[in-house]
Amino acid sequence: MTFSELNLSEEILQAVTEMGFEIPSPIQEQAIPHLLQGLDVIGQAQTGTGKTAAFGIPALEFIDVTNRAVQTLVLCPTRELAVQVTEEIKRLAKYKRGVTVDTVYGGDSIERQIRSLKKGCHIVVGTPGRVMDHMERRTLKLDQVKMIILDEADEMLDMGFREDIENILLDVPKERQTVLFSATMSKPIMAMTQKFQRNPVLVKVVKKELTNVNIEQLCFEVKQSAKVEVMCRLIDAYDLKLLLVFCNTKRKVDEVVESMKMRGYAAEGIHGDLRQTQRTQVMAMFRSGKAPILVATDVAARGIDVTGVDAVINLDLPLDEEYYVHRIGRTGRAGLMGKAFTLVGKDEKYRLRQIQEFTKVRIEKGVIPSFEDIVGVRKARFISKITESIQGGDLELYDDMLTSLQHEGFSTDQVVSALVKMSLGLQRSDFAESDLAWEDRRDFKNDRGGRRDDRPAYGQRDDRGGSSYGRRDDRPAYGQRDDRGGSSFGRRDDSRPAYGQRDDRGPRRETGPRGATGEAGMVRLFVSVGRRDRVRPNDIVGAIAGEANIPGKVIGSIDIHDEYSFVEVPERDVKSVITAMNGNTIKGVEINIEVAK
Ligand code: AMP
Repeated sequence: MTFSELNLSEEILQAVTEMGFEIPSPIQEQAIPHLLQGLDVIGQAQTGTGKTAAFGIPALEFIDVTNRAVQTLVLCPTRELAVQVTEEIKRLAKYKRGVTVDTVYGGDSIERQIRSLKKGCHIVVGTPGRVMDHMERRTLKLDQVKMIILDEADEMLDMGFREDIENILLDVPKERQTVLFSATMSKPIMAMTQKFQRNPVLVKVVKKELTNVNIEQLCFEVKQSAKVEVMCRLIDAYDLKLLLVFCNTKRKVDEVVESMKMRGYAAEGIHGDLRQTQRTQVMAMFRSGKAPILVATDVAARGIDVTGVDAVINLDLPLDEEYYVHRIGRTGRAGLMGKAFTLVGKDEKYRLRQIQEFTKVRIEKGVIPSFEDIVGVRKARFISKITESIQGGDLELYDDMLTSLQHEGFSTDQVVSALVKMSLGLQRSDFAESDLAWEDRRDFKNDRGGRRDDRPAYGQRDDRGGSSYGRRDDRPAYGQRDDRGGSSFGRRDDSRPAYGQRDDRGPRRETGPRGATGEAGMVRLFVSVGRRDRVRPNDIVGAIAGEANIPGKVIGSIDIHDEYSFVEVPERDVKSVITAMNGNTIKGVEINIEVAK
């Protein structure tokens, strides 16, 4: 289905095209028609599936710009989500002249928000507490609201916003459309829909179980801005010859192709805006190896059936779990081994988890190769090329060149080094090593998902006296299989249980961090704020969920004392929670957070 088949206004179609969306995501395809009919909808969808546009587009289509009153209210659990939702709606509203969107959330100056609301706006996006606050002050009038959207409703309930939400729902006109988006359909959610929605339509994307074998899957935690840089390093490090790169939008495909070409990689893009002749041309270049890197959107890649693709790289995490399976299924065909590398931005971490839950495969973390690693790998490959060339003979044809350069006063060593430099064409990248991953790269090496053997880490010296890459020894190059039966780097350890299965090699706690453990799989953290700072459990859950970008419901028990508190978080989130929260504030107080002693 295309966006134009959804009966949308020209203004929305223009915005969607400009945003580079190719086709509606599954949740958009299903939810938008019901919403445009004015029906109440329960959408079961998580972040990263395109749910914001699923409700944002119908909301925008209904706005009457001649009326300056608030007509749509969106409630979100955290300020980060409220800001993201506002930005997405503003992008979609670009050609809807006169439509205004405003955001209200706690932790920001209420006076500034009041001034902004006074100017009048059509759509308000906010967190429940702050929306209530404005309602009580009468700085937000909701008497003309026609549509109310509860985004991540399960999160809001988990964070203790039930009362606020109910009060808001009781205050907005009864003649309205009530839309609820939630990743899970728990009992409290169902109770809420029964109480506040009228004959809601349940929209959820049903997925087939699909599996991929023969594919080594790795993920790399990378800053969004460094994704292309890291991808190029992976191409070099793993010596990838024919590969498919996936992006979510047409715009991104074009940007990535341009940026790769500038770096000297023969990449071409394919997406829905290409004419058939261009498409055929690009495909021919890909097949023949003239442009061995094909950057594609999900739709454009549908018709591609090429064997021998040695890797798929997900530059964006897909909007749908099934897309992931389809994407990576382009490699590992005809009995060959394939690789699937997923570059995960901090904001996509939760999405990766959903994909793992769906595919029931734990996607191990890989290590980002350093610039020195790349130099080492390129050198090693070059050395074998030189060896081949020497063995090929006919060298005497070029003797005179060397002699004339020697006459000009250059030594043989200098000539050789200059030739190597020219031939390798390596340039130091603009990225500092510390600017690639969203956590310190050193952490990866010790991480649970990282290396599992005793060989030295990337670029470190081992006891045989050389750096671990680029040495001419008997160890296999990146990604080649060695005689221990696995590829040489960051591979999935097949003896470990699949994602979500029980590991019968002993209880999880033994492998957990050394801090105080609470419930199985949970770690107790000490937080330096307590009752004296007027901190409530909601404040702690809200701050951690928002800042560390984890769902509120995974946060365990909270124990508030006078001067400090304890909070339990899942073992796997400990590091990101501590990194995100340290030095941050809760209720305006700067906090210190650490694993409880
Ligand atoms: P959301 O689930 O709303 O957080 O959306 C996740 C990301 O997908 C956002 O960056 C959206 O701009 C993007 N997105 C939404 N719909 C589409 C679509 N149909 N095609 C490509 N990207 C989309």
